[in-house]
Order: sequence, then C-alpha cells, then structure tokens
Amino acid sequence: MIEQQDKAEFGADGPFDVAVVGAGPAGLSAALALAGVGAKTLCAGPPFNPDPARPDTRTTALLAGSVRLLENIGVWPNCASAAAPLEAIRIIDDTGALLRAPEVAFQAAELGLEAFGYNIPNAALVAAMEARAHDLANLSYVRTSGIERVEPEADTVRLSPAEGGAIETRLVAGADGRRSICRQAAGIGTRSWTYDQAAIACNFDHDRPHAGTSNEFHHAAGPFTTVPLPGRSSSLVWVDRPAEIERLMALDDEAIARAIERNLHGLLGPVNHVGPRAAFPLSGLSATKLAANRIALIGEAGHVIPPIGAQGLNLGFRDAATLAENVASALAEGADPGSDKLMWAYNRARSRDVTSRTYAVDILNRSLLSDVLPVRLARGLGLHLLKSIAPLRQFVMRQGLAPTADMPGLMR
Ligand SMILES: Cc1cc2nc3c(=O)[nH]c(=O)nc-3n(C[C@H](O)[C@H](O)[C@H](O)COP(=O)(O)OP(=O)(O)OC[C@H]3O[C@@H](n4cnc5c(N)ncnc54)[C@H](O)[C@@H]3O)c2cc1C
Repeated sequence: MIEQQDKAEFGADGPFDVAVVGAGPAGLSAALALAGVGAKTLCAGPPFNPDPARPDTRTTALLAGSVRLLENIGVWPNCASAAAPLEAIRIIDDTGALLRAPEVAFQAAELGLEAFGYNIPNAALVAAMEARAHDLANLSYVRTSGIERVEPEADTVRLSPAEGGAIETRLVAGADGRRSICRQAAGIGTRSWTYDQAAIACNFDHDRPHAGTSNEFHHAAGPFTTVPLPGRSSSLVWVDRPAEIERLMALDDEAIARAIERNLHGLLGPVNHVGPRAAFPLSGLSATKLAANRIALIGEAGHVIPPIGAQGLNLGFRDAATLAENVASALAEGADPGSDKLMWAYNRARSRDVTSRTYAVDILNRSLLSDVLPVRLARGLGLHLLKSIAPLRQFVMRQGLAPTADMPGLMR
C-alpha cells in the first residue's frame, strides 16, 4: 500500500482503474477485492475510527459468504481470533402478549454447517483490512479528510481531495456512507425513511457460556439481540423507542448491567462488565439505482437498513465482491471498467438482492411494532410453523444466509 499524505502527491500515480471513496468496512473490502483481481486501485478517505474517545462499538455478524470473501482477499487470518462462531439463533417472544409465540431455535447443524457465520467487532475487522492493504502493490491509500468534489467526465472521473490536488479514475466505487457525495455526483436519487426507534450497540461479559447461540428477544418496541463473542462475552443490539434508548444511554455501568441482565431472564447469568455504548437512530435509505455515470455505489451509500437480522454489511460485502468480478471481466477483455455496460451489469446484479433484503428487514421490524391483532397473529403463526416444519425452517435459514442465486464467485 502506498500511503499518500502530502498534497503534492495526490493523484501522482493516476489515472486509476478504480478509485474507492470511503475507507469504512465496505469501502476497504471493495478496495482489497478490486486490487486482488488486478485493478489499479486507489482508496481515499479518513481513517475509519479517528476518535479513540468514541470507538465504533458495533460488531458484525458475518454470514458464511462474507467470511469466504475475507478469506479470498487475505483478511480472515488477521482477524479470525477476534471472532466467535454463530452456531445457533434462538428467537424468544418477550412481548408480554396474551398469545405468546413459541420459542424457535435455528441450528447451523441442521443445514450441515458448523456455523451460520462469525461475529466480530468492527474495530478488529477494519484493522485487519487496513493491515492487508499494506501487502498490495497495486493499491494506493490516500488518507484525506474527505473527497470534496466528484466530477464525472466523458472518459474518467475527477476527484478533488480536501487537501488539494486531483485524482483521475475510470471508475469510482462510492463507499462514502449514507450521505454519499458520490451518489449525488452520479445523479442517483434516494428514497429514505425513519423509524420511531433507536438502538444501543455495546459488548458485555457474562458468567454463563453462550454456547455459540445468539438470543433474539422480541419486544413490542424492537428486538433485544445478543450475539456471541470469544470467551464469555457477547455483543448486544438493543432496539427500543428513542426516549428509552436515551434513558439507557444515561445509566451508569452498574445500572445498565442490571438492565441487560433483566432482559436476558438469567440466560447468560450475571452480567459483570459492559463496554462503551453508542446509540444509533433507526432509518432506511434506498438508492433508485446502484450505478450511473462511472460511479457504482457500495454499502450504505446505496442502501441503509435497520440492524435487524445482520444484513447491512453482509450486503455491502456482496456489492464489493460483485463489482470486483465485473471489473475483472472488463479488464480481461481490455474494456473500460467505467463503461455504461458495466454500470448496467452491476446494477442488474445487485438490485434484486438489495431490494429484497431491504423489504424483508422492514417488514420484519414493522411486524414487531404492530399492535394490529391480525399482524400479531400472523407473526405468531409464522413462528409456530417455523418451529414445527423442519423443511420450512431450513428454507428460511438458507434465505437468511445469502441469496441462493447470483452469489459472486469471490464469496463461494
Ligand atoms: C447497531 C448496529 C449493528 C449492526 N450489526 C450488523 C451486523 O451484525 N451485520 C451486518 O452485516 N451489518 C450490521 N450493521 C450494519 C453495518 O454496521 C453497516 O452496514 C456498515 O457499517 C456500513 O459500512 P459502510 O462502509 O457502507 O459505511 P460507513 O461505515 O458509514 O463508512 C463510510 C466511510 O466513508 C467515509 N466518507 C464519507 N464521506 C466521505 C468523503 N466525502 N470522502 C471520503 N470518505 C468519505 C466515512 O468517513 C466513512 O469512513 C449494523 C449497524 C448498526 C447500526
């Protein structure tokens, strides 16, 4: 990796085949996958976690295809020890409703798998990706406080870093998050919405072993989900009404530990240490297209969904792997990696997966929030059917893991 800090050096190695704007987890995965297939690649963005006082407290439950991508781009050996296998998922109706849905358990072993995936702190994942970037000679890393302008032209796109200078590239992978300036420059519109919910993300230690099981307690205002981490630790995503999340954020360490313990009904024993907490308002965003004008959107630049069902970054990784495959084919044919043909192919390859996951997560979340009796009955019936019909349960597990069609080769 070439690190360019000096204004005079910006763009010195261009023009690039691809410039990735944004060095978050989705952007770094795209940069590594693109460089891995031989594209002359640049990745430009601020360091992922610039403020140590406000660490990213999130973890990512990486599904099997995402772990395979990390193996294929040489990242997994650097971070596997920070991850814990996810062997089972337990869903518990804790809504307090009169007609309580049955508890349902999904076991990876039922699909002949050791684990559905692995849960890893975002900080460890991004650190491993940054370390891997040092190994790749065809990947330049520009640490900039931000790209200020993205200007598509006939044959290239011109990027202007805040520090000055210019970068020329044939294709931009816009991985600059939900307020993406790449998306704007591509002329791609969005549909966005909010939920009357927020989430706390934190990690905690507990006395009883988690046995590789994620516990999802369904409450009337959103799920309370623990996911295994190595040892006797788990991550927590607690979704509730914004005022309740604000109250929970203000609790001291002892009080939040007891609140988590109460919600777990003793399942993991006493909770004895809770790490830093961060709160996230819940919202959704869907780009009307995923590529146009030499700019392809990756990760939250193209789709934001609530943190329910561990889908967000897994979708972002599928974007990255798909774009890398499309670029590899273009370069092998001596074709332009930013052509309209590639824009069309990428958009077509990603739209169905992104749209179906966005709707599925939205419907799941709204069905939990609904007070309407038929919706509650339908949800209860669904859980009854899942509990008692093994083939249906296995089908749902497979669909939750990944799309059965169109899985990019880098994730197989
Ligand atoms: C509580 C919670 C739990 C979650 N759990 C899971 C899970 O278990 N599994 C899962 O798959 N997903 C999960 N997600 C979703 C996942 O965290 C996100 O999908 C993921 O972090 C998005 O990554 P990203 O790289 O697309 O965006 P970001 O992390 O927002 O990165 C965008 C990057 O672009 C940079 N940037 C912005 N503007 C510019 C610019 N102009 N120039 C250069 N750089 C720029 C930013 O500095 C940032 O580093 C969870 C989300 C939440 C809130």
